[in-house]
Amino acid sequence: MIKKSLYDNYSIDFKENYRTEEDSYYFIFYNRELYLNENNELPLINEEELNKKFNVNFSLYIGTFKNKPAFVVDIIESSEKFYNLTDVFPIDDELFLIGGRAVQILDWYKNHQYCGVCGTHNVMDDDLMMLKCPKCGHINFTRIAPAIIVAIRKDDKLLMAYHSYYKIKQYTILAGFVEAGETLEEAVHREVKEEVGINIKNVKYFASQSWPFPNSLMVGFTAEYDRGKIKVDNFEILKARWFSKDEIERRSNISISSWLIDDFLDS
Ligand SMILES: [Zn+2]
Repeated sequence: MIKKSLYDNYSIDFKENYRTEEDSYYFIFYNRELYLNENNELPLINEEELNKKFNVNFSLYIGTFKNKPAFVVDIIESSEKFYNLTDVFPIDDELFLIGGRAVQILDWYKNHQYCGVCGTHNVMDDDLMMLKCPKCGHINFTRIAPAIIVAIRKDDKLLMAYHSYYKIKQYTILAGFVEAGETLEEAVHREVKEEVGINIKNVKYFASQSWPFPNSLMVGFTAEYDRGKIKVDNFEILKARWFSKDEIERRSNISISSWLIDDFLDS
């Protein structure tokens, strides 16, 4: 489990046109990958040094990190080395957390420059972090897509499924996006029924995790098997069965799915 909090050394703030000559922490992204310097650290440099090294598209002030100003930076192109956030995690899990926030702000700012209703150029609100259409008033906040993930037990076994769309081909627990109009608990019951055909009971909140690929908020639950026979949908889920503890290997602790699996293995 990630023990650190986003806010251990980071304070949230936002100003669209804030500039400073002070050395600052720059979260520099290219194709959603983060730049780390030759010491595998986030660069602490001034704006002049930033512009000397990178072709900056835009930079946005996103608060303070370790008592220094922090910016997210979108660049045009670069031959420097960039890291996928999943590769940043083993180097510095705190940078994974704040980088995850930074890249979602970058995506939102980049993708909401024009009003989705009338096409007018949006402007940043003076007080809130939102992009607003000056013509029709339509507003856009940063987008977060909630998703549920659930560890289902039957006696001393855990339900694991083989997903068709996961890059890593291995059995894991069930997850899915929350539909408009439903509660988190309803999403858990529906996803499980749709994907493996069973009914569950005793759904309990476990923990949550921001998952910036690209903008999920994973909400984790535990549950118990109630009734029904496993029948996979053959679309999202190709195979599913009950696993005993000795059949399950521990995984990288980057994601809430591994925290839920560890919780089962440690019980
Ligand atoms: Zn508009």
